[in-house]
Amino acid sequence: MWKCPKCGRTFRSAGQQHYCGQPPVTIDEYISEQEEEIQPILRKVRETLKAALPESIEKISWSMPTYWQGRNIIHFAAQKAHLGIYPGAEAVAAFQERLAGCKTSKGAIQFPYKKEIPYELIAEIAKWCLQHYYYDDVGGE
Ligand SMILES: [Zn+2]
Repeated sequence: MWKCPKCGRTFRSAGQQHYCGQPPVTIDEYISEQEEEIQPILRKVRETLKAALPESIEKISWSMPTYWQGRNIIHFAAQKAHLGIYPGAEAVAAFQERLAGCKTSKGAIQFPYKKEIPYELIAEIAKWCLQHYYYDDVGGE
């Protein structure tokens, strides 16, 4: 067990990422709690998603920045060495070919900070999610 020296909570693994204070309520708060050097990346991801999903509501859901429009469309999260994008398993499958070289798992994509973040591709994935997860639900508007 590891005890965080800042907040005193205990975790199974040493150095476990967590929020020492209150969990963030807004995406601004979320971004401001991350490592300074990755904040510009996170701000750009946020701008990218806002532009791709202009009618979506931004919120924190499952402790992650989330774009919501009738349902959760896409999430992102700052991990230690990569940006996590969580568009759902169907989207990951649909974009599999273009994600060659990225680590993916069911519903999640990892973009290492060391490499160029493909913001345009992230925008395309977000739009795909909106079409498939939102418009399908309301009967192909
Ligand atoms: Zn802590």
